[in-house]
Amino acid sequence: MNQLRLDPLTGRWVAVSVERGERPSAFLPRSASVQADTSRPCPFCPGNEESTPPALETYGSTGNWLVRVVPNLYPAFEGDQPFVVEHRGPVFTQATAGGIHEVLVLSPDHQGSWDRISDEQAGLVMAAIRDRIEEHAQVPGLRYSQAIVNAGREAGASVEHPHGQLLGMSFVPRELAEEQAGFARFAGRCLLCTTVDAEEDAKHRVVYADERVLVICPFWSGTPFEMLVIPRVHGPHLHRAAPADLVAIGRSLRTVLGQLRGSLGDVPYNLVFHSAPYRAPEPYHWHIHVWPKLTTQAGFELGTGVLINIVAPEQATEELRVAVSVP
Ligand SMILES: [Zn+2]
Ligand SMILES: [Zn+2]
Ligand SMILES: [Zn+2]
Repeated sequence: MNQLRLDPLTGRWVAVSVERGERPSAFLPRSASVQADTSRPCPFCPGNEESTPPALETYGSTGNWLVRVVPNLYPAFEGDQPFVVEHRGPVFTQATAGGIHEVLVLSPDHQGSWDRISDEQAGLVMAAIRDRIEEHAQVPGLRYSQAIVNAGREAGASVEHPHGQLLGMSFVPRELAEEQAGFARFAGRCLLCTTVDAEEDAKHRVVYADERVLVICPFWSGTPFEMLVIPRVHGPHLHRAAPADLVAIGRSLRTVLGQLRGSLGDVPYNLVFHSAPYRAPEPYHWHIHVWPKLTTQAGFELGTGVLINIVAPEQATEELRVAVSVP
């Protein structure tokens, strides 16, 4: 069973998940190809549906799915235990970690990474993420959903077939709480609405813009080629976004990830979807981080939290803009 333990030095919860350590690939060298064992059939390709638990949700016609959501075989969070903190000593604080851990297969196509799927497919993936978060929000005891896509072994993907993960959590994680504090600290109107206006005025960090979305290499980028995808319509919750905005966000991701591939080749990356906790009050503005994994955080970064970015976001933007997005 999974357990949360509090790091009293930082105030962060650590999820001790022994089951996830039983994944066949848990400790493979990071440089290994995503799927070391190619003799086994891909669990996410059509025809192999029996190798995963039954789908929680599928999109597309019956027997011809386009997006598929299944329970994670090695969940980091599962069960419906409420979030109860227990003190087992002056520095031993633990909590039960109920929750949900799902896998979202982005496409029936084994090569269908986000930059290679159609705009319609990208919109469908965004709709699936919205639907799952909406469903998680109805589960008693859950407070927050984290959607992610890990692409490439160095970014943490353990199955090659393009997929994402959705975690329903019974507590608000530290990163989110810190961002909420950032919004609350910001004087004036919404922090990200202001960012949209300021970056559009500045122009030279805008990677992609349409009437519904702005993608920038943010002024404060901590890592090379990092991007921030911001919907223009203000709203704290991804699962309350209008369908047209979700379609536009999906398309913008397809475009900028294509530009990333055009510029740097097949690089590993993480997509991190940030949406306010279900019942959180304002202020918050949902958004997506694109974090290409091009460098390793070393002792200084780990020790200080100060990131040293060796590519200025202005330079990254310039390179991304000239790159042709090849679908
Ligand atoms: Zn596959
Ligand atoms: Zn806003
Ligand atoms: Zn964020």
